Amino acid sequence: MSDCTGPLHPQAAEGLRLFNAGEYFEAHEALEDAWNAEEGTAKNLYRGVLQIAVTYLHITRGNYAGAVKVYGRSQKWLRNIPKICKGIHVAELQNDAANAMREVERLGRENISGFDRTLLKPVKWEETKHTYICDRCGHEMYEKNCKVTCPNCGNRFDCSDLNIYFD
Ligand SMILES: [Zn+2]
Repeated sequence: MSDCTGPLHPQAAEGLRLFNAGEYFEAHEALEDAWNAEEGTAKNLYRGVLQIAVTYLHITRGNYAGAVKVYGRSQKWLRNIPKICKGIHVAELQNDAANAMREVERLGRENISGFDRTLLKPVKWEETKHTYICDRCGHEMYEKNCKVTCPNCGNRFDCSDLNIYFD
């Protein structure tokens, strides 16, 4: 059973920001923390994305054998993940990584240093956020640190007793 609902682990979100900044080594460390903290689908998702980060790290370092090996491993984890999971566009990531690996294989061991890094695309993802609607005035409310406030009428909640307002 796959469970792609619920928010990203905070270290996974951090890992994706680092990934998208091209900081693949640091992305790997953050995603490892998230992976260690999770079970099931989320664990496989984070491990797969982690291995794509390591694949890209190997590519940028000209390590052909490392890139091929780690990319191969990543497929075991990512193959059965839904197209979008915990806000991560997994199918697009898979497509981008496959394109990058086709280029790696075309260049081969000898010419990998000529790899065009613009082929290393960022991961598309959305932070899952709840929308709160004020029960007094109908205005959209803002959440910060679990305190939910209506900017229109000043109505306030704590997010822990707000399940009925989840959209
Ligand atoms: Zn209000």
